[in-house]
Amino acid sequence: MAAMPRSPLVGSDVHYVASGHSLGANSSTSTCRAAKVTEIKNASTVSLVVFTPRGTLFYADLTYDEGKAGGTWHWPEADGGQPTSSIYPSSARPPKKDTKEGTAKA
Ligand SMILES: [Zn+2]
Repeated sequence: MAAMPRSPLVGSDVHYVASGHSLGANSSTSTCRAAKVTEIKNASTVSLVVFTPRGTLFYADLTYDEGKAGGTWHWPEADGGQPTSSIYPSSARPPKKDTKEGTAKA
């Protein structure tokens, strides 16, 4: 079994691979769908709620597959299993107050 970047947790954001014909897509290629883990069966088998443009779907006992076979899940490509702390800039601070006493009124 291929090594996983990390183990899933309930509530983890992952991708579900939909078969093109099953969810209204026109192509026959597999499509990544946003999904959230709802249950952990084991390190590579989970249940998901899948978010599609037309609604949510629920699946149980899905296996992890980096090869993105239809009906499997994987970690989001942009995520790559890495922490996402970079979306919060460390330099974010409240703006400085720019007050000058005694010059507010003409
Ligand atoms: Zn994906």
